[in-house]
Amino acid sequence: MRIGHGYDVHRLVEGRALILGGVNIPYEKGLLGHSDADVLVHALMDALLGAAALGDIGNLFPDSDERYLDADSILLLKEVMRVLKEHGYSLVNADCTVLAQRPKLAPYIAMMRERIAAALCVPTDAVSVKATTEEGLGFTGDGSGIAAHALVLIDRA
Ligand code: MG
Repeated sequence: MRIGHGYDVHRLVEGRALILGGVNIPYEKGLLGHSDADVLVHALMDALLGAAALGDIGNLFPDSDERYLDADSILLLKEVMRVLKEHGYSLVNADCTVLAQRPKLAPYIAMMRERIAAALCVPTDAVSVKATTEEGLGFTGDGSGIAAHALVLIDRA
């Protein structure tokens, strides 16, 4: 078995949709990025690639590549899982934490887990998503950005 960790941050700005874990969340701001800026899925992809020592999403999906402009990160996640499978790995479980002061994410957690699990072709109980505030501290606390951590365990298929 091998473990992987991923971390990502995106800035919250006006005029963008907020997409987290493949779920469109109603909010006055959204995350800024070349793709759909789904910070949770980005952290998860880096965790998967990290576990397999296959680099990071910057190598796989460079933001200089127009193909990934406004890309649906769930589709990129499917591609990462395909690459891992090609290298003989399967996912045991993933545990993700989103750091956001607002909006309240609790109503969307179940849907995020389902979307992510479906993309990875694993049961929903193999995917955990949690959300926390940082008590008003730092860039997540003042609402200027959202961060996410992800940990995964992979095994030889
Ligand atoms: Mg990112």
